[in-house]
Amino acid sequence: MRFMSGLEDLYREIILDHYRNPRNRGELESPPARRAEGFNPLCGDEIVVYLDVDDSSTISDVKISGQGCSISQSAASMMSAAIKGKSVDDARALTSRFKAMMSIHETEIGGDGSESEADDEPGIDADLPLGDLEALRGVVKFPVRIKCATLSWNTLIQALDEMAGAGEALDRSRGRSH
Ligand code: ZN
Repeated sequence: MRFMSGLEDLYREIILDHYRNPRNRGELESPPARRAEGFNPLCGDEIVVYLDVDDSSTISDVKISGQGCSISQSAASMMSAAIKGKSVDDARALTSRFKAMMSIHETEIGGDGSESEADDEPGIDADLPLGDLEALRGVVKFPVRIKCATLSWNTLIQALDEMAGAGEALDRSRGRSH
């Protein structure tokens, strides 16, 4: 299993790199930026996500603050790098894809390594590249840490949902219809 341990070393290095040199660390003025807070009581992790979304529904800027364990903070850094410059729809698709990867531990542990069933869930694009996010795949072996890895993504979705709700209200008040 030399290949596997080599891969795990690589994953560990990617996670440590994001932990030591977090991407998009900081804050955005809110408003106009959308701010959402996430908390993982199991581990004490806190994540604050700031999002700027432009008129074409592109995430033009993202900043992360908060504190917590290395998994939660490196996952937040990876998340910010993965969604910056993407459309809101793509960010949501990536969230689904990532969470599917994080929920497959039962099939993967002790499994034969064949394609997981979670990837076949409807609405999940199994071909969507995950890049550095793949490094968090090893976390599925430690179910208690999965919430650390998904915290920033859940906070992102919270921000996007709040934004969508506010946008709808705004559209309605302007009398605009779709
Ligand atoms: Zn944690």
